[in-house]
Amino acid sequence: MSEKSTATEKKLKQAIGARMALEDARKHQVDTLSIFSSKLSLACKGLDTELDNRLANFRSALNKGVGFDDLSPLIDETIELLKKQETIQLSQQRDLQESVLSAGRQLQKIKGLPEGTRRSLRNLLDHEMNNVHSTHDFIPLLEKLISFYHQALNTKLRADSNISCEATPALAQKLLELANDLVLEDEATVEIKRIKSIISESDNLGSLLDTAINIITVVVKNINKERESAQSFLSSLNQTIEELHKSIVATSKHSTSMGTEFENLNKSIKSKIESLNEKTQSATSISSLKELVDNELKSLTQDFMAKEKLEREDREILVSSFNEINGRIGTLETKLTKYKKRLNDQRFKSLLDGLTKLPNRAAFDERYNHEMHLFNVQQSNVTLVVIDVDHFKSINDRFGHTAGDITLQVIAKALQKSIRKSDFIARYGGEEFVLLMSETTVDSAVAPLEKLRKVIKNIPFKFKDKQIEITISVGATQLKKGDTPIKAFDRADDALYEAKNTGRDRLCISK
Ligand code: GH3
Ligand code: MG
Ligand code: MG
Repeated sequence: MSEKSTATEKKLKQAIGARMALEDARKHQVDTLSIFSSKLSLACKGLDTELDNRLANFRSALNKGVGFDDLSPLIDETIELLKKQETIQLSQQRDLQESVLSAGRQLQKIKGLPEGTRRSLRNLLDHEMNNVHSTHDFIPLLEKLISFYHQALNTKLRADSNISCEATPALAQKLLELANDLVLEDEATVEIKRIKSIISESDNLGSLLDTAINIITVVVKNINKERESAQSFLSSLNQTIEELHKSIVATSKHSTSMGTEFENLNKSIKSKIESLNEKTQSATSISSLKELVDNELKSLTQDFMAKEKLEREDREILVSSFNEINGRIGTLETKLTKYKKRLNDQRFKSLLDGLTKLPNRAAFDERYNHEMHLFNVQQSNVTLVVIDVDHFKSINDRFGHTAGDITLQVIAKALQKSIRKSDFIARYGGEEFVLLMSETTVDSAVAPLEKLRKVIKNIPFKFKDKQIEITISVGATQLKKGDTPIKAFDRADDALYEAKNTGRDRLCISK
């Protein structure tokens, strides 16, 4: 081979090598562009369908090996679309910025935001928000804002639960008292008992509201039942009266028609006797007289028999009518007795405390006013005593409401057993009792009241295998001239207050 040909061959080889390198470079560029366009396409996916299509066309043109000249218009169009997209994004970013700012300002207005949160929020809104350049910059700011919202919400929730913490026990107590005062049918009593145990476990306003609604529902149901029973009694009373009326009208109509028949018969008998009288005067012979008397007597006998039949029928009708009326009145009487008993039972029940079966506050008020009236007339010695169980709340708290209920029942029974027959004790409400001691000066009440206090203290209460001592504080006063029920009660209450304040488990007297 000549030297020239070797050189040409070498050049050719170089050219081929350069060409291959160029093709490689182009392939690499096309690949890179294709990857770029597909990445761009992915990034912009969904923003704009036109842009999506354009990028897809661009990629397929690239893959087909279309020349750069042909690609150029596609690139220009894509750039235009991207620019348009940028404007849209900027305006969206501005909208987002505004809405975030407005949400932040709203949050600033919320009362009770912790000082630290308020400061950070101010910084976010006044400074950090101004350094936002892209939508991505918003993400950490939004996260911050959301955390501020959380803090605000927690603060508010805590504040709300504080309100319920303060107000709940008082409301629960009121609801319990209300539930205790209810006098309802047996079925409703069971339901109220269930509601009471829910109240005692309630620690928030929401569930107390629920129980209040439940109580109202039970009461309304009970009222409806009462009304139905009263209505049924009244309607049967009405029915019986209507039937009585009908039956009396029927009897009286019958009597009127009977009256006319009687009158006619009487008239006929009278005229027959008169005619017999006349005819006997004018009779000429014994035989004609006999015949005359025979005939007239026959006819008279018929009339008398008819009269007797009429009388019998009348009697029978009257008797059956009276029997019927009697029966109806009897039924009515039975119903009336039952209804009266029901009303009496209710009145009795309405004066009894459901839990302890002692007279309740309404019964006490009635008796107290009566005693006060007697006192004003006779100036007798009457001592008024207020008794309150010490630290009773802790019994409920430690051993549960049911244990508390049983404790109250035991204490009530012991109190009732320890007083004299002439004394009057009532459950005034909650764990408070009142005692009226007639014919007793406050000085002579000291010994029995001290005894009473010790009786309660010595009850061997046992909860969860623990021996518990329960004590009472007692305040007493004697009715004085010029007292009103409230004035005397306040004096006894002052004495009780003193007993509580000087260590409980004691009797104090207010003169
Ligand atoms: P103090 O010695 O000052 O009288 O304290 P206390 O805990 O007895 O008094 P407080 O008035 O704080 O609480 C009375 C408690 O009695 C609260 C209430 O839940 C409870 N209570 C009231 N009525 C009933 C009831 O019918 N059953 C039960 N189990 N508890 C009741
Ligand atoms: Mg009390
Ligand atoms: Mg108490």
